[in-house]
Amino acid sequence: MKANVLMSQMTWTDYQRRVLAGQPVLIAIGAMEQHGPHMTMAVDTMIPQAICTAVAEIIGAIVAAPLPYGYKSQPRSGGGNQFCGTASLDAATLTALIKDLLKEFARHGVRRIAIFDGHYENAMFAIEAIDLAMRELLWEGVRDLRVLRVSYWEHIQPETVAAVFPDGFPGWPLEHASIMETSVMLHLDPDLVDMSQDWADGPAQFPLFDVYPLPPGHVPPSGVLSTIRGASAQKGKLLFENYVEEAAKAVREGFAI
Ligand code: ZN
Ligand code: MN
Repeated sequence: MKANVLMSQMTWTDYQRRVLAGQPVLIAIGAMEQHGPHMTMAVDTMIPQAICTAVAEIIGAIVAAPLPYGYKSQPRSGGGNQFCGTASLDAATLTALIKDLLKEFARHGVRRIAIFDGHYENAMFAIEAIDLAMRELLWEGVRDLRVLRVSYWEHIQPETVAAVFPDGFPGWPLEHASIMETSVMLHLDPDLVDMSQDWADGPAQFPLFDVYPLPPGHVPPSGVLSTIRGASAQKGKLLFENYVEEAAKAVREGFAI
């Protein structure tokens, strides 16, 4: 068997050896969410999973199987939960899933866990899961667990922004299924992107508040909140290398390793 950082491809004995050696566990949490007519619905899982895997190879870590579902898509950050195919979890379910996994890794003896979030809407529920898991583990006498939470897109460096968005950066929420994610996917797996499916119905013009129920015409029918024009594999490579470098730095700094 070849050496691999993926927990799903390890034997339990190999996993245990790595845990005893003090290796951290990295886990991507994503979503099953529409990403326009041009990309697969697993983008929010695939990007952080690829970053985790690259980081684990650099620092020596275990990559747990990713969570392929996330919290309900919101119109202003993911187009909304009304799209066919977008399949989301209730907050309590997502929180419970993440909490259970954190406690399982801790039971194995893992004391450093990093959650890589690929879906904007997951953030507070991951934080809640970390808080509940750490509280319960404390009751069980576990005092030395450290958990990091990373939103990878926050790691973009100013020179990368300038290279990827020469016409100005629209802000992360409007970037859903747009230039950033499309470029990174063109770099990671171009077979999962069809650039001929450009409906050109954006960018979305959202008010600075949320409305429930969602008014008709609020979200571009394609689900692309900005535009895919200008996306390229070359930009994706630049973005991905930036994310991996900064994420590796963050994990080393956060875990003091
Ligand atoms: Zn996304
Ligand atoms: Mn998302």
